[in-house]
Amino acid sequence: MNSKKLELKDIYLAKNNVYKIARKTPLFKSIDLSKKLSKEIYYKLEFLQDTGSFKLRGASNFALNLSENKLKNGLVTYSTGNHGRAVSHVAKELGIDAKVCLSKNVPENKKEGIRKSGGDVIVYGNSQDEAKIKADELRSKEGRSVVPPFDDPYIIAGQGTIGTEILNKIPDIDSILVPLSGGGLISGIALAVKSINPACKVYGVSMDRGAAMYESIKADKEVEVDEVDTLADSLQGGILLDNKYTFKMVKKYVDEIVLVTEDEISAAVRHIFYKDHFVVEGAAAVGTAALLSDKINNSGEKIAVVLTGKNISNEDFMSVLSQH
Ligand SMILES: *Cc1c(COP(=O)(O)O)cnc(C)c1O
Repeated sequence: MNSKKLELKDIYLAKNNVYKIARKTPLFKSIDLSKKLSKEIYYKLEFLQDTGSFKLRGASNFALNLSENKLKNGLVTYSTGNHGRAVSHVAKELGIDAKVCLSKNVPENKKEGIRKSGGDVIVYGNSQDEAKIKADELRSKEGRSVVPPFDDPYIIAGQGTIGTEILNKIPDIDSILVPLSGGGLISGIALAVKSINPACKVYGVSMDRGAAMYESIKADKEVEVDEVDTLADSLQGGILLDNKYTFKMVKKYVDEIVLVTEDEISAAVRHIFYKDHFVVEGAAAVGTAALLSDKINNSGEKIAVVLTGKNISNEDFMSVLSQH
């Protein structure tokens, strides 16, 4: 599949693999937020996956497309945390092992989560891009398959199953708000949505500190950004200077990229907890943050917001609750 363009068919093909390990998640109407904004707001509860984030979908599809021979040499990956945990979980399900290379910016609770899911944590470098160097080294030394975090057709198609699930439930949805980092998630969702219902708008939302895709689209080429400390730690990391898929797909399919501040993210995490009683991590709350701060124009009436993960440490969560 590597050389050809991704199509809707690839997302349908991914379903068989995704649903062997990940689950379909509910679409939950937020009564409070709907009332507050006078719209219909639906939360897609991706934090209900076994590893606490949607990353299980892409990782399952990637691994189940590898040959038996490749699988038996094990997996290796680099990650801001949630992808590493997903890869570890998939490896455990398949009875093989996984090594996860993380930069020193990855929070302790995410390392613990990876170990709990059976992965071997290796801390290397100051950014996700540097951790990738270590992963590539382990591929050549140990014959492991590298599971890319976002810029890969199987990963993108796996995450795209979120798009088909939303459209199956609400075919006339007007807009979907998607947390955006490397862009595997939004590329898959947008491919599904624009193929099935092109009128539906797809918005990417990133934090305003080190938003690699936003800066790259603005510059019309892949640019590097510094990784700065943010509550949305899962959105850190670059898009790769030799990006093959997600940069083009975001350019083609995504209607707009919106940025939110740390205070807006923190307020959104609180809002989701106080009003709907869900605990989500900063990266997952950026869609709600964009809505609450009135940054989404022309969204229409029916809006789906992807709540991507819940892997926030208790300390960070309590600190967010105490900040108003
Ligand atoms: C990885 C991740 C994202 C962003 O996904 P990309 O495919 O890198 O754009 C958003 N939210 C959470 C919780 C994540 O783990």
